[in-house]
Amino acid sequence: MYNITLIPGDGIGPEVTNSAKKVIEATGLKINWDIVNAGADVYTEKGVLVPDEVFKSLEKNKIALKGPITTPVGCGFRSINVALRKKYDLFSNVRPLKTISGIKTPFKDVDLVVFRENTEGLYSGIERSISNDSAEAIKVITRKASLRIVKAAFEYAVTNNKKKVTVVHKANIMKLTDGLFLDCAREVSKDYSHIELEEVIVDNMCMQLVMNPSQFQVIVTTNLYGDILSDLCAGLVGGLGVVPGANIGDNMAIFEAVHGSAPDIAGKNAANPTALILSGAMMLNYLGEKKKSDIIINAVLKTIGEGKYITKDLGGSSSTIEMTDAIVEKILA
Ligand code: ATP
Repeated sequence: MYNITLIPGDGIGPEVTNSAKKVIEATGLKINWDIVNAGADVYTEKGVLVPDEVFKSLEKNKIALKGPITTPVGCGFRSINVALRKKYDLFSNVRPLKTISGIKTPFKDVDLVVFRENTEGLYSGIERSISNDSAEAIKVITRKASLRIVKAAFEYAVTNNKKKVTVVHKANIMKLTDGLFLDCAREVSKDYSHIELEEVIVDNMCMQLVMNPSQFQVIVTTNLYGDILSDLCAGLVGGLGVVPGANIGDNMAIFEAVHGSAPDIAGKNAANPTALILSGAMMLNYLGEKKKSDIIINAVLKTIGEGKYITKDLGGSSSTIEMTDAIVEKILA
């Protein structure tokens, strides 16, 4: 029996977390779900974005499946996602992106993983107003955070028999910050002589990714570049509806889709549940339940491959619930 925190989140979050829960339960795994919520809906109801019970549950279980959380727009609200990643030092944001047979895209053999540094960099949102007409943001890069994310990427390459790690940077312009990140990548790579370290500047990387994405296997980069590149890569494999993710630290892991709360389709039973279901499969793998994780992945791939019960974003006409039920049926069969 596993104790796992489940955070439904906002927008399409409750719909897709419900799908992932159903699919995981269909594998027969015994889970005690500790359901707690955070985000804009909770704020409207309780006046706090993240109630204490969320922190308590995370600290107790140390593992969570989480739907997207909306941070209200406006001053005074900092991103909850960023806050959770920082508070629990979930330094590794891991996003596997793979071509799925049955999804129409010009790219046939994308198979890469983005390792995004998750705790610092420009994405931290450290900003200040200088005057009414100017503002500035601070980009912090540290040796400690850079070394550990690059090491995570190389360790993944070793475990998964990959031959190359690509570090993405802009060190030609940001010589101190990105320069330090690049130096750390070079330093770590010395311990992995059988794996090539490829260095690519971020703007060139964007072009390379849309021209020939299959040349890349493992990408490691800073927080903001990782955010942007992983959405770009999502576009190569069928969109945000199919890309899972994990935030992993030394003592805790939170699994969540790359997509946001998608307010345009929220509550319409139209969201593609694949991304969160595959995030759930990543979570089972992390727990050592590889067989059950593979069962979920195969059921998802088969459902999409058959094309009968797929959501609108994938070119189908099924609802979230119909697609989920089709996946569950394959697992039970
Ligand atoms: P955030 O800033 O919170 O990451 P975002 O503004 O980047 O969010 P998303 O909420 O991820 O955007 O949505 C971007 C687009 O992708 C929207 O049109 C949305 O409907 C679509 N989308 C996102 N997730 C899904 C999904 N699971 N199924 C179908 N469409 C989705």
